[in-house]
Amino acid sequence: MEKWQKNLKASLIDADELASYFHCDGESLSRVVDKYPMRISPHYLSLIQSPGDPIWRQCVPDIRELQEDGLLSDPLEEENLSPTPCIIHRYPDRVVFLATTSCAVYCRFCMRKRKVGCSSFEVQTEILEAAIRYIEETSAVRDVILSGGDPLLLSDDHLEYLLQRLRKISHVEIVRIGTRVPVTLPERITPKLCRMLKSYHPLFINTHFNHPLEVTSASSEACARLADAGIPLGNQTVLLKGVNDDLETMKRLMQKLLTIRVRPYYIHQMDMVKGTGHFRAEVKRGIEIMKGLRGHTSGLANPYYVIDAPGGKGKVPLLPDSVCFKEDTLLLRGYQGDTVEYPL
Ligand SMILES: *Cc1c(COP(=O)(O)O)cnc(C)c1O
Ligand code: SF4
Repeated sequence: MEKWQKNLKASLIDADELASYFHCDGESLSRVVDKYPMRISPHYLSLIQSPGDPIWRQCVPDIRELQEDGLLSDPLEEENLSPTPCIIHRYPDRVVFLATTSCAVYCRFCMRKRKVGCSSFEVQTEILEAAIRYIEETSAVRDVILSGGDPLLLSDDHLEYLLQRLRKISHVEIVRIGTRVPVTLPERITPKLCRMLKSYHPLFINTHFNHPLEVTSASSEACARLADAGIPLGNQTVLLKGVNDDLETMKRLMQKLLTIRVRPYYIHQMDMVKGTGHFRAEVKRGIEIMKGLRGHTSGLANPYYVIDAPGGKGKVPLLPDSVCFKEDTLLLRGYQGDTVEYPL
């Protein structure tokens, strides 16, 4: 067993253990954990400075997850867009391939809360084979996004098998991996893994940092190893109430990501997923944050702010109103709020 696998085994998964660690109420914790599993890796646990802080909020179960919030467990209708289990085919030329349901930390705000960490959804070999067959037979698919769950929790051999199979398909031009491991289990990014990944280019990785406190020396080294293997790194952040829904935190996060060679890609408005309502910040707040980034800091630190439209209609970018038409001219609004006329 590799060191990262041993560390993963040492994660907190038991409500009572967590309660005694932090001297809090185990009974309500275990009611939540019965429905939505908990896992907190040793590394992520070590980032908590005090109960209620931004790291704690992302990983410690909260009784509000059980509140009747009127939200749906699958508002994006991923299950309807699934031609075979573990494939989501929503856009013409790319698919999401859910290769596992395990993660190093079960984020309390996860949009796939309905299935992550649930043994009944574990991906069986026949299901994986059927997914690969679907991609082989669907020549429109030129971009495969390995997701889950966290695909980097698969063993090196298992992951290499999938990459090999995908690379053999001539119409698959690029492969992306979505993973939170650089944040939650950075020791998983071993030199051996990077050597393996390097032989399956063009390969892109999108990771998932939500708070400046998550950018540690360990996560920075993990990202450096991936970047040195020639893998372009992007980041998808979720706008989370009480975690990163203020301009200073978000700006600092975007800037710190660039220092570890990670390019901000998306800030996601929280999906309307059952059990996560207490994390939803107002859209107005997100737009204010975007206004505070554009022009005020490096263009590279400006991702798209997107809403994934309910019903599987796709991601829609939200831009602050920086342009409007006035008769035969354009009015451009600069980042300091002044307007300039520009011919059409
Ligand atoms: C987000 C997403 C993609 C990828 O979208 P990009 O804008 O290309 O990054 C693909 N399929 C599904 C189902 C998605 O949710
Ligand atoms: S790592 Fe991603 S898939 Fe896993 S629980 Fe967190 S948000 Fe969900």
